Amino acid sequence: MKISFHGAARSVTGSRHVVDAGKTRILLDCGMFQGRRDLARERNQHLGFDPKSVNAVCLSHAHIDHSGALPMLAKGKFKGNVHMTSATADLTEILLADSARIQESDCRYVNKLERRRGRKCISPIYSSDDAQKIVKQFQGAGYTQAVSLATNVTARFHDAGHIIGSSAIWLQHRNRGNSTSLLFSGDLGRANMPILRDPSPPPPCDVLIIESTYGDRLHRDEEDRRKDIAKQLVQHAIQHKSKIIVPAFSVGRTQDIIMRIKALVKNGEVDPIPIFIDSPLALKATKVFRQHPECYDKDTYRTFTATGDVFAAKYIKFVSTAKDSKLLNRRKGPCVIISASGMCEGGRVVHHLKHAIENEDNVIVLVGFQAEHTLGRKLVEEWDTVPIFGKPTRRRAQVVRLNGFSAHADRNDLLAYVRAIHPLPQKVFVVHGEERQSLAFAMTLRDEFPGMEVEVPKPDSTHDM
Ligand SMILES: [Zn+2]
Repeated sequence: MKISFHGAARSVTGSRHVVDAGKTRILLDCGMFQGRRDLARERNQHLGFDPKSVNAVCLSHAHIDHSGALPMLAKGKFKGNVHMTSATADLTEILLADSARIQESDCRYVNKLERRRGRKCISPIYSSDDAQKIVKQFQGAGYTQAVSLATNVTARFHDAGHIIGSSAIWLQHRNRGNSTSLLFSGDLGRANMPILRDPSPPPPCDVLIIESTYGDRLHRDEEDRRKDIAKQLVQHAIQHKSKIIVPAFSVGRTQDIIMRIKALVKNGEVDPIPIFIDSPLALKATKVFRQHPECYDKDTYRTFTATGDVFAAKYIKFVSTAKDSKLLNRRKGPCVIISASGMCEGGRVVHHLKHAIENEDNVIVLVGFQAEHTLGRKLVEEWDTVPIFGKPTRRRAQVVRLNGFSAHADRNDLLAYVRAIHPLPQKVFVVHGEERQSLAFAMTLRDEFPGMEVEVPKPDSTHDM
């Protein structure tokens, strides 16, 4: 077995790992790089391998940093199947269509500005057509079902508890009576998250590729603090007629926030104020949630069967059309606008930020991980001036960081995951973390499991097993 790491190696986005198992080439994830526009363009246009050389793809989950470059495979004449769980297939289909559409519309917007400045126009890296083509190659599977990728290569998907349909991917290569197995964690979730089941125990493997987004951090249980902040935010919004802008992934995080707000209102801890979910994608995602109750935890399943819709409430409005989204720009607070993308790199939230950021009464609430060089990261770091659609913009709105919505395992969760593998893998590759996080987690693993070979692969490096 040979593994090459073409993304999410000493970084968090663009998850792409090529596994050569004998004559079969398997691609694990085909994610999009996010970050500085020019660098991201370069890394998304050039995957690091020839799509035609890949026999099959296995996708861990629908998030764009894991799936967003799949249309580049169709563009590069990849003819094989893309395997994933059925819920991931449904979610990825809508996320890719959305990604292509966002790129097309962002390009139009940027090009309008570039033309005015007399600069060269850019084109989207892939089209809606490319996205539709690759979706036709999707194959949905059930959790733990054996999927044959080639005569001597089998895959299984194990619940990763990260977003709906998410999985850790187990591969087995059989060769003349010997077999080598590999487990790719994908993104690992945490125990007790709303809606989802806890991650499944990992199967035995010889080689482990594990994420390390929070490889050096522990999530504190700050439920009480979060509730206090939520209460203060609502009071502030009512008093100052503020808009509270919450950039969030349309899938997973948005549903998570809705469930938590509903619980606060139900318990009388906050007054209901209008909450706009400004995302056609969130609507579509909710549909996917309804279609896949096999992914729910027991509580959600019970509520779902009792009420039919776990996300509905009078004060929650889903905004679908662009016209209604624009009307929100003129709307006075108090209100909450939850909109994508989560790292503020595109989508409707950038327009909401543009209209809200210069007013000191407004609040931007960041709930997710913000990768380096993204607008979200600049907001977390409280820059006074941030670029919005390429234009330096004064930030007067307050920024509030609300932790605890992370759908990622922390250091101890990751460690417990490795500890649960019997027998322990001989070799571990630490990926999907900023360099400091990955190196720190690798150190922790070496301390904890002497004798285990632990490596933090460099981008585009290849390793023989
Ligand atoms: Zn993810």
